[in-house]
Amino acid sequence: MSRLLFVNGSVVLPDRVLEDAVVECVDGRITRVGRSRRRVPAGVEVIDAGGGFIAPGFVDIHVHGGAGADFMDGAVEAVVAACRAHARHGTTTIFPTTTTGSPAQIEAMLAACAAAQRAGVAETGARLGGVHLYGPYFASDKAGCHALEGCRAPVAGEYERYLAGGLVRVATCAAELPGAVAFYRAAKKRRCLVTCGHSNASWGEMEAAYKAGMRHVDHFWCAMSSVPSLRARFGVPMQASMAEFVLARPEMSTEVIADGCHLAPELLEFAYRMKGAARLLLVTDSNRALDLPPGRYRFGPEGDGSWFESDGKVGWAPNGSLASSIMGMDHMVRTMLKSTSASLPEVVRMASLTPAERVGLATQTGSLEAGKKADVLVLSKRLTVRRVFVGGVAV
Ligand SMILES: [Zn+2]
Ligand SMILES: [Zn+2]
Repeated sequence: MSRLLFVNGSVVLPDRVLEDAVVECVDGRITRVGRSRRRVPAGVEVIDAGGGFIAPGFVDIHVHGGAGADFMDGAVEAVVAACRAHARHGTTTIFPTTTTGSPAQIEAMLAACAAAQRAGVAETGARLGGVHLYGPYFASDKAGCHALEGCRAPVAGEYERYLAGGLVRVATCAAELPGAVAFYRAAKKRRCLVTCGHSNASWGEMEAAYKAGMRHVDHFWCAMSSVPSLRARFGVPMQASMAEFVLARPEMSTEVIADGCHLAPELLEFAYRMKGAARLLLVTDSNRALDLPPGRYRFGPEGDGSWFESDGKVGWAPNGSLASSIMGMDHMVRTMLKSTSASLPEVVRMASLTPAERVGLATQTGSLEAGKKADVLVLSKRLTVRRVFVGGVAV
């Protein structure tokens, strides 16, 4: 029996901070969160938080890679390298995210993730919560840094193959594409979090998507429709966009890339105030340049992904637009806390319990609660990651 006792820290719960509390774990599960006891039973490994924070491990539902590896490289070693890199930044549950690759590249990515999951990546890095089927069903006018040639409309013959394995837990499609509604229904049937992204969808297209089960929009303000973009598409009268749809519907969630480069503080604050901590997620959207020096890298598959430049803070596409982030979740948490009026429990919730709830994993992980997996972080007072435990195993 393995027993862990986290002591000498403030425990971050979804709604408050418990000062000088402890977290007890037995055999990979949390068994008690509460006031410290004087006596430590024999055979218990004590983890001293050094006066910092004891927090739940982060859950990242939108992430492309790290430490030189992109999940689309399609190799088990790439999956393991990226999962290890993100674990060092506090992510304990990860959803490897596809780009607009070819069917063969997407299948290779899914096979590599399945193999990594079987081999137990959680022993050495973040646990695979499932795959985010993100590309290829993007609108070509909203491709962003993804390879434009790969953008296509969803066809059942293709996506049913991806969904059949059960590994896909988050599924994105641009709502205006032909076949989008059928895709959303198929993904909903598989109990995926159904999302609309890289899209120039109108209100009407969002309504149809919503009816088919769509409940989330990828990286708010990035590669999505706006009133001006719809005016360019339809003329007048001006029409409401994805942004208004997300803000008007309490059931809709969305995510922000809080790296300090994509969105100014007032936009982070606006998103938090409009959606609240239970409907706004932090994601890294990190690419392979995480933890690597500035330089030129490929976004997506190693062989033919599109080139971007990392300046050490963020990725840049050749056309001068942003090409996803190069930061881990710990950085996003610190930036969100610094940039907004959200409290520490709320910011941590946006990086842990909220994403876990949206993907249906909240009974297993996402907060420090008896019965859940021992996905536990020790953070310093300044929120740098000191220790990471995935299911009670130190990584
Ligand atoms: Zn994107
Ligand atoms: Zn992305």
